[in-house]
Amino acid sequence: MISRLSIAVVVAVLVGLVIGRVGWALAILLGSYVIAQLWNLFRLEQWLRRRRLLTPPDMNGLWGEVIAIVDRIYRRKQFHKSRVIGLLREFRRLTTAMPEGAILLGPEHEILWFNRRAGDWLSLRRRRDRGIRVENLVRHPAFVSYLRDGTPVDGVIVHDSGEHGRWLSFTIVRPGDDAERSLLIVRDVSHEMQVESMRKDFVANASHELRSPLTVITGYLDALADDQGLDPAWSAPIQEMRRQSERMSTIINDLLELSKLESGERRLPEQPVDIGGMLALLRREVSSLEQRPRTLTLTVESDAWLLAAEGEIHSIVSNLVSNAVKYTPVEGEIELRWWTDDGGAHVSVRDTGVGIAPENIPRLTERFYRVDSGRSRDMGGSGLGLAIVKHALQRHEGTLTVASVEGVGSTFTCHFPAHRVVPRPDDYADHDAAPHAASERRIADA
Ligand code: ADP
Repeated sequence: MISRLSIAVVVAVLVGLVIGRVGWALAILLGSYVIAQLWNLFRLEQWLRRRRLLTPPDMNGLWGEVIAIVDRIYRRKQFHKSRVIGLLREFRRLTTAMPEGAILLGPEHEILWFNRRAGDWLSLRRRRDRGIRVENLVRHPAFVSYLRDGTPVDGVIVHDSGEHGRWLSFTIVRPGDDAERSLLIVRDVSHEMQVESMRKDFVANASHELRSPLTVITGYLDALADDQGLDPAWSAPIQEMRRQSERMSTIINDLLELSKLESGERRLPEQPVDIGGMLALLRREVSSLEQRPRTLTLTVESDAWLLAAEGEIHSIVSNLVSNAVKYTPVEGEIELRWWTDDGGAHVSVRDTGVGIAPENIPRLTERFYRVDSGRSRDMGGSGLGLAIVKHALQRHEGTLTVASVEGVGSTFTCHFPAHRVVPRPDDYADHDAAPHAASERRIADA
């Protein structure tokens, strides 16, 4: 192109010399050159504007190269675009066929996109609800607090009180802690909930029905045991039958207690509970047992009380204490401890008993799970004690931690949130009404 321009300049100079107007000849040449460039620019611009409809203009030199490069970039972009569009269509088809609902949320939990299933279940409309914060549409408190702090990890189940009355489970998937967007997976768990409710009803009804006949059997066995005229050969079998019926009644009572806790109904009223006093009482009860670990220690480090349902808290602590008694030899030690700190309130039951192997610890709160079933049965255990502890704790937003070393001992600690810690009521503040009332008191007997 430059060489062509140089030749044109030389020709123009020569023509200029011949006609005696070099300046004019050069001016005409440059003018024509500029017009030609502007024309090319105009054609390029026209093509760029409507390149989808027009074929690339046929130009020589640098313009031709520019057009070839632009055309190549354009074709590559078209190729990627059609691939992305294809993938998007595929994704749409898949998400529509998905049995779960999916909602894409922005940083403020505003709805960016949702699939058909989520739209149907939550009655979402594309035009109306896009951009609206999801907690304004699903207002269930459990869901709102799950969205805020993300716990529990495996989501929440809420009852959709809308026209379908479904049970929906929500799980948030975040690609990273600092991720701008998150995916809310919604599942219809109505069937599972129905089966679960049938199971609970069945256990509750069966336990209830078994209780009356068992009371009759126990009554007759007691009468037989007291009967002086009975053949002495029957004495041992009757004692065994009484032991077994007692076990059965422990299991039935525990099953009924568990169903009551699980049903969430008939929740006992919550009030400030004197945990230190409760521990002192339990310690006294244990010390009156014939078979018990020799050393019982009570450490009360806080004056505070706990806002809770007293019966359920008693059930938690007495189950832990009775386990400690069952699984600790007479020469061992049990320590009951109550304290509060910034994290909330804590009750622990530590023993120097048989301990639990690490692989069994995660399963302890399962129903009927026993590390050593023979030993548990011999001790009169139902295998339901720790399941009751877990459920009762859940109803108080509490958690259970277990630390144990086989052959050394175990510590079961219940943790309650700080908002449940309340000051000791004034009526108890002035005098040492409760035997445990002290900023820290250790009571031990050997
Ligand atoms: P159980 O009625 O059998 O004691 P639990 O649910 O209370 O049922 O406890 C489940 C199992 O956990 C027990 O069978 C026992 O093996 C183990 N366990 C519970 N507490 C203790 C403890 N303090 N020390 C050792 N093992 C324990």
